[in-house]
Amino acid sequence: MFKKSDDSRLRTKYQPRNVSLSMLKKDRYKAFIDYFSEHQPNAETELHYTNPYELLVAVILSAQCTDKRVNMVTPALFQRFPDPESLAASTSDEVFEYIRSISYPNNKAKHLVGMAKMLLEKFQGEVPSTVDNLQLMPGVGRKTANVIASVIFNMPTMAVDTHVFRVSARIGLTSNAKTPLAAEKQLIKFIPQDKIHIAHHWLILHGRYICLARSPKCGVCPLTSFCKYFEQNFIKNPKLDSKSKAF
Ligand code: SF4
Repeated sequence: MFKKSDDSRLRTKYQPRNVSLSMLKKDRYKAFIDYFSEHQPNAETELHYTNPYELLVAVILSAQCTDKRVNMVTPALFQRFPDPESLAASTSDEVFEYIRSISYPNNKAKHLVGMAKMLLEKFQGEVPSTVDNLQLMPGVGRKTANVIASVIFNMPTMAVDTHVFRVSARIGLTSNAKTPLAAEKQLIKFIPQDKIHIAHHWLILHGRYICLARSPKCGVCPLTSFCKYFEQNFIKNPKLDSKSKAF
């Protein structure tokens, strides 16, 4: 666990020599994009899928659930329901049996069958490419629609989940964003269009493995030279007790 005495050690060890206090937002964005473009140029979703239909199913299942758990149930689910036709012809009771270990299985089973029916009735069995059309389907909110548009169709959409919301605020890419939509608007304003779809994965993966919700691992984080949270907690205000995990 992080101890108060670790605070000065952390500052000494990780305070970059050329750190610029109160960086301009555009400089934070540049540093963020430069770092990840070099170190994670091929970041992608951790959900397993082989086609747009499977990704749509997996993303619906992943709401308030981990990708790891979703990946545990989708092989059998995709084997039994390999396409929208087989899923639409099923019942939510049958689908439930395949996804019972996922959060909110009842609602998600109903959404999956409803989604498959709408895919066939309205979109000729093809996953639509626009956020507006995607959001017409049961179980597909703005975040899910943005993920599909971004991952499958390379659209410049930013899906803001809990990781993206938290990490972008900590780094200082967003300011005073009270809702995911407000964060989304700020992020797509500053991130170059051709980087938006991959920036979504950068933020999610960083939140999942380094910038954890309760205990960000600032001691091993490579973003300290431009992270606002780090600047405020370890540089500007060194006396502040932090919950950050040093090692
Ligand atoms: S320095 Fe700390 S708060 Fe900033 S991104 Fe890294 S882990 Fe998160």
